[in-house]
Amino acid sequence: MTDSAPQRVALVTGASRGIGKAIAMRLARPNTIGGGRHVVLVSRSAGPLADLQHQIESAGGSASHFAVDVADSAAFAAAIEKVAEERGRLDILVNNAGITKDGLALRMSDEDWDSVIQTNLTSAFVAIRAAARSMMRNKFGRIVNISSTSGVVGNAGQANYAAAKAGLAGLSKTIARELGGKGITCNVIAPGFIETDMTANLPQQVRDHVLGLMAVKRLGVVDDIAHAVAMITADEAGFITGQTLCVDGGMTMC
Ligand code: NAP
Repeated sequence: MTDSAPQRVALVTGASRGIGKAIAMRLARPNTIGGGRHVVLVSRSAGPLADLQHQIESAGGSASHFAVDVADSAAFAAAIEKVAEERGRLDILVNNAGITKDGLALRMSDEDWDSVIQTNLTSAFVAIRAAARSMMRNKFGRIVNISSTSGVVGNAGQANYAAAKAGLAGLSKTIARELGGKGITCNVIAPGFIETDMTANLPQQVRDHVLGLMAVKRLGVVDDIAHAVAMITADEAGFITGQTLCVDGGMTMC
């Protein structure tokens, strides 16, 4: 984009903490590849989003926020459509909000299956459908679905989560094919083990085991994922679509 072109608008779900917060800060950071976006921050809790908006603005960036449960499809879709209408555009969509409800498959309740599928997979479909019209109108779009290496190679105790995350790959390839002609790309980023609230309570022996599997001998940090998202949503990344990029320190090399 040239200096006179309108600022691109990015929407990041699960932006109140962890990976989503880092993605939002990175996409807002001025004068960086894939940065300088107006970032719309989304999660269920308004307080942390307001704090993050303030933090981004204090660093010279631009942001706004709204609180919604992404599992409430009607409310989530309506909020996205409102953003696109009010801002006149929605260029970048990062479906990052996610939950785990782990348990062995044979003991997993329907409720734990359904809620993980709804929050981690169905919400991404709902968001894409709501955002696509604006992207098609502007003949530009970058969609990133945050998956997990669990969705690529499976993980005992995570049937619901791995199925939802694997589903994001099929969804993304299909969207890439359906909307590629309109200047819209759709990709998956699959983090490996990243230090956040989601992984804070894992036993030390699990952490040691995971570390042993990694080519890069350290656990991931949220900025590892944020930089990958900035790269794949850059204006220059228009020829990368339908891909799954595992950002996992060489754990799976998938
Ligand atoms: P986290 O620290 O638990 O943060 C999850 C984020 O999602 C929070 O901002 C949370 O905000 C939001 N969220 C959860 N349910 C929501 C809902 N129903 N509606 C709206 N927002 C919701 O998780 P994380 O570790 O940063 O993970 C972020 C993404 O990366 C997830 O999709 C996760 O599956 C994926 N991932 C993480 C790792 C890892 O090692 N950490 C590895 C692979 C993949 P509120 O609670 O405020 O709503």
